[in-house]
Amino acid sequence: MENETKKTEAELMKEKLLSAPKNAGLALSEEKIKKADKFCEKYKEFLDSAKTEREAVKETVKLAKECGFEKYSKDKKYKAGDRFIYINRGKSVILCTMGTDPLESGLRINAAHIDSPRVDLKQHPLYEDSELALFKTHYYGGIKKYQWTAIPLALHGVVIKGNRDKVIVNIGEDENDPIFCITDLLPHLATNQMKRNLADGVKGEELNILIGSRPFRDDKASERVKLNIMKLINEKYDIVEDDFMSAELEAVPAFKARDLGFDRSMVGAYGQDDRVCAYTALRAALKCEAPKKTCVTVLTDKEETGSDGNTGLNSSYLKYFIYDLAKSQNAEFTTVISNSECLSADVNSALDPTFPDVMEARNCSKLNYGVVVTKFTGARGKSGTSDASAEFVGRVRNLLDGKGVIWQTGELGKVDIGGGGTVAQYIANLNIDVIDVGVPVLSMHAPFEVTSKLDIYMAYKAFLTFFED
Ligand code: MN
Ligand code: MN
Repeated sequence: MENETKKTEAELMKEKLLSAPKNAGLALSEEKIKKADKFCEKYKEFLDSAKTEREAVKETVKLAKECGFEKYSKDKKYKAGDRFIYINRGKSVILCTMGTDPLESGLRINAAHIDSPRVDLKQHPLYEDSELALFKTHYYGGIKKYQWTAIPLALHGVVIKGNRDKVIVNIGEDENDPIFCITDLLPHLATNQMKRNLADGVKGEELNILIGSRPFRDDKASERVKLNIMKLINEKYDIVEDDFMSAELEAVPAFKARDLGFDRSMVGAYGQDDRVCAYTALRAALKCEAPKKTCVTVLTDKEETGSDGNTGLNSSYLKYFIYDLAKSQNAEFTTVISNSECLSADVNSALDPTFPDVMEARNCSKLNYGVVVTKFTGARGKSGTSDASAEFVGRVRNLLDGKGVIWQTGELGKVDIGGGGTVAQYIANLNIDVIDVGVPVLSMHAPFEVTSKLDIYMAYKAFLTFFED
């Protein structure tokens, strides 16, 4: 018999000419896989302590200070190795480490978002109906509303009182805290509801959060359950009903991040779009202490509602930050920004074996095939996207391959089947080369999203490689 190890001409040709993606579970060494698993332990902690944009900023500042980041000062002339942090209204944050190269050679920017789909309280939320107390809500971002019923919810956010004092709310996370929920109809009586479209299965105005049921003990008062609940809220937070008008209270799933699968290969948790990229980009920022290029990490708010608003990337806060930085270093702003490069760190949808029809198998991302590089997002004929140039894709490809980062390309579903966008277009509009790089996700925008630990680790490697290059 012939030697089995000898390759045929076709095999050799195939190796040379055709692409052969490999599952990271096979491509990575045992040691690397262990490292990835370990990396994700801290990631899960971050998810649990940063369920809202404000909490993500707080956690980021805490971790950054431990790594020598100081509060940004507009007038200071920074030198190589200096690290500082700029906070925009407590909801977005920019971390910067000065490089040895002149600022005019451009910045390296990793930009992720720290807001996630959720259910916000309205400004007059509290009411009583049928002797139960409830909160009216208005959902935030793209959600399938039916997924948010009958699950434990926690309440996070801030209340600004009449005297402008700020009260921080975080209830439902501690094991001893009470939780809340949006109720749904029992199947026995859902004959009519079941005939609705899935989109209307539960309607926006039906997302009412149950918060209490016991009345204030007084025979004469009306709305005694509402009164009793307001009394308890007042005792806990020292606020009155009118204070809800100047509040941002967000209902989020109360469960914690967990290992998923018998092999513990995945992370199941709320808010991984896009805290999986925010966390990996943050860790890269903390790790990269002496870069050549000045490294900027932007963790932004408002992506899920279209990036509008002064804490979103369709506003000028990043531009102004770079402008001020350029000015303090005597560098020309337009040169600095035009020579900059950015990885728009956001998730993409992974192939779901239960719903393969929405994906085009040759061009979609898969769990465990590494970080996803997405050339364009958008909808229809690439509308609402920044389609990265072949040159910039080539640049990123060369970079990742050179450092052994496992990566794949991805497209957000089949042509014309839907679509979506990221912050990439707003960064591109500043005349910066940008491309989407992130982690593939299953059940994106659901209260419980799924990612692969190896992909998470590869995202971290990608962001770090970009900074260290
Ligand atoms: Mn996202
Ligand atoms: Mn999203």
